[in-house]
Amino acid sequence: MSGRILVVDDIEPNVRLLKAKLEAEYYDVVSASNGPDAIELARRTVPDLILLDVMMPQMDGFEVCARLKNDPRTRHIPVVMVTALDQQEDRVQGLQAGADDFLSKPIDDVALFARVRSLLRLKLVMDELRQREASGRALGAINDTMSCLGDASAKANILILEDDERQGQRLARKLGEDHHLIHSTDPRDASERLDAENIDLLVINLAARGFDGLRLCARMRSGDKGRAIPILALVNPDNREQIVRAFDIGVNDVLLRPVDSNELSARVNTQLRCKRYADTLRQSLDNSFEMSVTDQLTGLHNRRLMQARIEDALIRLDRGVEAASILIADVDFFKPVNDKWGHDAGDKVLQELAKRMKANMRAIDVSCRYGGEEFVVVMPGSNLDAAMQAAERLRIAVEAEPFTLGDGQGALSITISGGVTELFQGDSHEAALIRADKALYNAKKAGRNCVLSADDKNHANTALG
Ligand SMILES: [Mg+2]
Repeated sequence: MSGRILVVDDIEPNVRLLKAKLEAEYYDVVSASNGPDAIELARRTVPDLILLDVMMPQMDGFEVCARLKNDPRTRHIPVVMVTALDQQEDRVQGLQAGADDFLSKPIDDVALFARVRSLLRLKLVMDELRQREASGRALGAINDTMSCLGDASAKANILILEDDERQGQRLARKLGEDHHLIHSTDPRDASERLDAENIDLLVINLAARGFDGLRLCARMRSGDKGRAIPILALVNPDNREQIVRAFDIGVNDVLLRPVDSNELSARVNTQLRCKRYADTLRQSLDNSFEMSVTDQLTGLHNRRLMQARIEDALIRLDRGVEAASILIADVDFFKPVNDKWGHDAGDKVLQELAKRMKANMRAIDVSCRYGGEEFVVVMPGSNLDAAMQAAERLRIAVEAEPFTLGDGQGALSITISGGVTELFQGDSHEAALIRADKALYNAKKAGRNCVLSADDKNHANTALG
């Protein structure tokens, strides 16, 4: 995996050394020797990862980090702080400034590349989400309220897997002040909970004697649900091989034992912040997809989805799987409704019609607003006879009860006309819509409030509404 890495250190030989190591692994490296230059370079070149020295004159690493994380242009770039001493207070302060990880000088190559790979992989996923969100925003399908960050103070559900009862309870007590804690001592029990409950974070002891923690992590990463749950692993500092494998399997972060409770809280919060951000992005993408295929007035699907569903039906038809038909329905004398009662009344009529369509068509039928007062229903699995019956049922349901206009405006008798056609092999959605539209035209000509199929031969050339 390649990527651009920004190295920041006030000591020139340190920069050269890191640069050489990273370039040997084919990373593209840019560098800065002080805080302000680093911030400027980060904005301009938008690197994939920043290795940031803590001790620098004028502006130290904590401040640089805090500024990068407060700037929307650079907030998403992972920052690894490089500390001269393995100071616990430094780590906590760095995490509070928004740092994603730490390395101690002198930098151990194995630890360096394990963390770099892990953070670049995470960033790849986030970039994909950000990119899709940006296009949703450009289309107007996502707005700022939808993509604002989730409630950061909300309590998270954290599962601790630790076979030492006392140690597990100690961790649970520490984190339990801010979150809901579940303590499990058995990997099978933990697996079931991960599947069944809404877990936001797994804290797992990889040094446990009673089970193989890495195996559980690997299994989580191959499952649909477990893939999105962050994992914070507790490891023994001397087990370097395990640390590297943990990152390669997809563990998000490791914490060295014995566990410092401040560092634990800080790392837990970093993981939760990251997950909330990803969840919010995913949620707004789901919403934008839903919005992009929904007609805002009626809540039915729009033309875009209609077209896709007709294409789906044609593919199944070509494979010989099943027949399919479509109906175009149009409100009779709709223009006078708008003219006489106003557009709000017109909207009410369309909304009520949509409701009756939903109530009378099958769940697998796809009801869409085609435009104006025209609707299309795609009916998978229905041949012409079945589709005609369904269309007739809808016509009767519309005619049966007057439409209430609301605001004391009384009720209106509404009818619809419809045209039905069955799809055939080699058909196209355009051709099918033209046939159905022609049948609809004939239904209008035949006196309205009726449904005709494309095979009915009633021709007319009068313009009808
Ligand atoms: Mg320094």
